[in-house]
This record gives sequence, structure tokens and C-alpha cells, in this order.
Amino acid sequence: MLEVDGLTTRYGSINALRNASLDVRAGEIVGLIGPNGAGKTTLINSIAGLLTPAAGRVAFGGTDVTGWAPDRMLRAGVALVPEHRRLFTDLTVVENLRIGGVTRPAGERERLLNEMVELFPVLKEKWTTSAGYLSGGEAQQLAIARALMTDPELLMMDEPSLGLAPILVDVVFDLIARLSADGKTLLVVEQNATRMLQVADRAYVLRSGEVVATGTGNELLGREDLFDTFVGGGPGPGGVGGVGDIDGIGGVGGVGSAH
Ligand code: ATP
Repeated sequence: MLEVDGLTTRYGSINALRNASLDVRAGEIVGLIGPNGAGKTTLINSIAGLLTPAAGRVAFGGTDVTGWAPDRMLRAGVALVPEHRRLFTDLTVVENLRIGGVTRPAGERERLLNEMVELFPVLKEKWTTSAGYLSGGEAQQLAIARALMTDPELLMMDEPSLGLAPILVDVVFDLIARLSADGKTLLVVEQNATRMLQVADRAYVLRSGEVVATGTGNELLGREDLFDTFVGGGPGPGGVGGVGDIDGIGGVGGVGSAH
């Protein structure tokens, strides 16, 4: 479904991503893990069209989509839940969802809205609340629902569990498993490597802008030699990295690169 071949992306003279290759097949959950600054966000933003790669190729469904603008990628079926959510905080929950649905034909939008109510009952309770007043967990669910309103073939998420209380981290990972069971294809950036590998079919490990390992979730979980790379430090008790207990208000207005 998605093929990334030799992608290189720079910020000025900084080579944030070097010659990265990966593929995602229909129906898979693929994880992208690695320490801070490894290039994970740069990679998915380059796929989503938020960044323009300096070299390499991105193909989606067999079509070369390298350098396509974000709205064109959305229409092609690739949606991104960006880091920090980037909700429209002055708009209500339902308004955020309707904005998510603008790429769909009018007749489909109501069906998609109904699906979101079923998937995220908590959002229905906050339907007319401004997104800026949601808790961190609710805001993350809204960010995911907004992306799902585009009815994507491939859903990419950047650090969906970041900053959430542990119980909400469980909600996010349960949701990832549920979306996959419903037939969605997922590419997920996570610093919480252990949790990601437990749910992923396959994963890629990035370090200093390069893909340094790949394998099934179980294979990589067994690679003790990689623990330092996963988190830039050793494994902690009961899991590693990425889980904070800051349940803050999520999101800032606008769309764009996560950094
Ligand atoms: P994190 O978990 O911290 O988001 P990451 O693996 O997603 O890490 P990136 O955000 O892709 O890593 O960053 C890769 C490299 O590019 C880092 O060295 C980072 O400092 C640099 N970088 C990221 N964004 C920019 C930017 N807008 N301008 C300059 N350098 C950047």
C-alpha cells in the first residue's frame, strides 16, 4: 500500500532523515520507534506532504506521490494525526469533525459522523464543547476522529499516547487495535516502544535519521541489544519511554509540521 524508498529530508543543513525506506501493507499496524530526534516525525511528515523530501520516493497504492501537498495526500487516502494534535481549539468538537470531513462527498459525512459517535462515545458527550476545553485524552480522541472523518485508507499517527495518563494510554492502544480489527491500515510513531511493539505487526527502529532495524513486533521485543536505541536509555520497569502523566489541554489551532 505504502512504499517509501531512500527518503532523505533536511532542515537547512540538518539531515534529519537519511535514506529511509519502509513499507506498509494493507491491514497492517506498523510502528515507528526510536529516541527523541531520531527522525520519526520528519519521516511521517514527509509522507503526509508537510515536508518536501530532498531525495527518495514515496508511492501509495502504486502511484508516485513524492512531494504531493497535504490536501492531495488526504484526498488520495492518507491521513495524519499530527503530534500535539493541532485541533481548532476555538471550534466545538462537532465543528472540528465536520472540518475533517470536508474532503468527503456531502452524503458520506453524516455516516462518518455517526461512526465517530460509536467509536468515541466521550466525544458525543462533548459535542458542542470547544476543543480547547477537552482533557488530553478527549483531545487525542478528537484528533484521531477528525483524521478518520477523511475515511482514510492509511491512518498515520504521531505519538498518540504522548502526555496522557496511563489509563488513557491504554485507551489509545485499545483504539489502535480496534481500528486495525475494523480493517484500517496504521502507521504509528511512538516513543512508548514496548507498548507499540506489543500491538504492531511490524515496526521500524530509527536512530539519528536512519532506519537501523526492522522486524515483527515480537522479534524487536526480543532484541535486548536495541533497548538503548528504542529510548536513548535503558528499559524501565514495566515498559519504556513516552508515557507522562500530564493530562493537559490538547491542541493548538492550525495545521502544519509538528515542530
Ligand atoms: P521526537 O520524538 O522528539 O519528535 P523524532 O524522532 O520525531 O523525535 P524529529 O522531530 O523528526 O525526530 O527530528 C529529527 C531531527 O531533526 C532532530 O535532530 C531535530 O532536532 C531536527 N528537527 C526537527 N524539526 C526541525 C525544524 N523544524 N528545524 C530544524 N531542525 C529540526
